[in-house]
Amino acid sequence: MHIDILTLFPEVFPAFLGHSILGIAQEKGLVEFHLWNIRDFTQDKHKKVDDRPFGGGPGMVLRPEPVFRAIEEVEKEVSGTVTVPPRKILLCPQGARFNQSMARELAREPRLMLLCGHYEGFDERIRQGFDFLEVSIGDYVLSGGEVPAMVIIDALVRLIPGALGDEFSTVSESFSEMLGEPPVLLEYPQYTRPREFRGMSVPEVLLSGDHEKIRKWRLEQARLRTRQRRPDLLKE
Ligand code: SAM
Repeated sequence: MHIDILTLFPEVFPAFLGHSILGIAQEKGLVEFHLWNIRDFTQDKHKKVDDRPFGGGPGMVLRPEPVFRAIEEVEKEVSGTVTVPPRKILLCPQGARFNQSMARELAREPRLMLLCGHYEGFDERIRQGFDFLEVSIGDYVLSGGEVPAMVIIDALVRLIPGALGDEFSTVSESFSEMLGEPPVLLEYPQYTRPREFRGMSVPEVLLSGDHEKIRKWRLEQARLRTRQRRPDLLKE
């Protein structure tokens, strides 16, 4: 997968992208990241990317010219075997709410472009000029699209086959069809060594070696947790 990130702050990404699952996925050749600074696409000598909103009001709005130029330039770029145009995502609190099923869908794309806003957001013509999937990571407002871009990248790269050591990890965790059984559930409780810790013990069934019993217990626990914590998931 090829991921283009358009941002005013490319310097905040490398440490995040270079570690853990994301770093390993790059080393394995499963994903490559391309960082683009929107400011590099300005044409005035002050490299101005924002301006005051027409009609008045607080803050600054991202100007259309550098953003259009950046997107058009990035779309032209062909890298390695990925020759298709990117699926374009605009990060925005007004977008469709990001969730695990969207992550699964996006993880199948060969190429993605993530456009991070800042300040008061985008001049509306940026939305009109391109076919974006507008995505929000939740009902709150952050200062910029960089953290949302990182959230989305992290959620979907771990779903690319081969990115995690154990493929089973992504099918038995929260917001998945637990152990192959619909609906989508929260994950069951997990335990590791020691068997006893400060008077709390590991449930006997997990030590029984009986895989069918363990599977049933986990499924039951996943259903119980979902009913207690996220009954809305059961309705969906
Ligand atoms: N004025 C905008 C509004 O009220 O909808 C908010 C702009 S916000 C301060 C600046 C940028 O941060 C946005 O353009 C977007 O890229 C990003 N952003 C903030 N909150 C976000 C969220 N919940 N999900 C995705 N992106 C977000």
